[in-house]
Amino acid sequence: MARQTRCLACGAPVGRYRATCPVCGAVQPQKRIGSTIGLGVLIVGLLIFTIWAIVRA
Ligand SMILES: [Zn+2]
Repeated sequence: MARQTRCLACGAPVGRYRATCPVCGAVQPQKRIGSTIGLGVLIVGLLIFTIWAIVRA
């Protein structure tokens, strides 16, 4: 995987975690961060469910 993605609007290299293009200011999609947050929520949810199941037993 490339460290940098390219701006959808102007094609300039944009840092992976930048929300906007430094050249033209276009908003960049944040798929990687979104999937990371989704995974984190899933893990926390499983953890809470496990604790709840233990406490309830
Ligand atoms: Zn751009």
